Amino acid sequence: MLKDTIRNVVIVGSGPAGYTAAIYAARAGLNPLLFEGLQPGGQLTITTDVENFPGFREPVAGPELMANMRAQAERVGAEIVSDVVESVDLASRPFVIRLSSTEIPTKSLVIATGAEARWLGIPSEQKYRGRGVSACATCDGFFFRNQKVAVIGGGDSACEEANYLTNHASQVVLIHRRDQLRASNIMAERTLGNPKIRPIWFRVLDEVLGDDRGVTGLRLKDPRNGESEQIQVDGVFIAIGHRPNTEFLDGQIELDEKGYIVTAPDSTATSVKGVFAAGDVQDSVFRQAVTAAGTGCMAAIEASHFLEEQGHSH
Ligand code: NAP
Repeated sequence: MLKDTIRNVVIVGSGPAGYTAAIYAARAGLNPLLFEGLQPGGQLTITTDVENFPGFREPVAGPELMANMRAQAERVGAEIVSDVVESVDLASRPFVIRLSSTEIPTKSLVIATGAEARWLGIPSEQKYRGRGVSACATCDGFFFRNQKVAVIGGGDSACEEANYLTNHASQVVLIHRRDQLRASNIMAERTLGNPKIRPIWFRVLDEVLGDDRGVTGLRLKDPRNGESEQIQVDGVFIAIGHRPNTEFLDGQIELDEKGYIVTAPDSTATSVKGVFAAGDVQDSVFRQAVTAAGTGCMAAIEASHFLEEQGHSH
């Protein structure tokens, strides 16, 4: 990785969006440079079986799928670096990508930094994280075999987590701050029809209770009148949505009200010409590996067109 070489395209992020952008950019002869970030492989590396990514007759493990995407990107010529982009300067041309020890100039940029689970922000949540508090049922559900767990939230994620947890836990309580799920109808019906799942309406998590061995219960509050109650559980899964990873952009790219990067309709173009965004960092709706891969492909093709407009030749 030569510091003084101006790159054609830098890709930030190593989920399906980043690797797909790298595969397409490499095959277009753009010699892409991809920074993997803090969680190489992204959110799929904390998933077990993936059975909705086309091309796999049998379920494929998330980490294996991501290892294959990485190997494929490298095979077609992408340069992959295990480093974290700390900040960018998008006002200069070429753009400047800053790492802890160096700076890389680049003519175009693909942001594919994904999103991460949101937390409630109460101190006891962090205190018991990893000791009964989790944001990933597929990662940690296994530890709650024949125990009682809670899921916080009322969206598709919460329902998915609750349903998954019934494979392990003896009972799952779904705690929601309203009396109506935000989840899609089919997901809501499946969840409320599951005999192992009991909804608790009009409650928010006020405090995680525990001892030195981990979580023992929850203090819940009724948001309508502030009344509180305690329930006994062995674990709690927070499933209140996701937060896109955009801090390193430091306000240089337009975001929507939920913090996702705004892209032009039918495009991955952002508010800065030459900067493209793909995957969960710009998608609060679909959030699927295959849609992330699709937008990663779009971003590479659009970066290639942009470079051609700028007079890039192979
Ligand atoms: P979401 O749809 O934004 O739902 C978040 C849920 O958490 C809402 O029910 C919300 O309550 C609740 N919540 C938020 N902040 C809270 C707080 N501070 N305290 C208590 N509750 C809080 O997020 P998501 O479920 O992660 O889904 C995001 C997107 O991905 C959606 O478009 C979803 O359809 C999609 N998704 C799809 C699938 C699938 O199809 N298999 C799976 C997962 C996600 P309110 O309802 O009161 O706002």
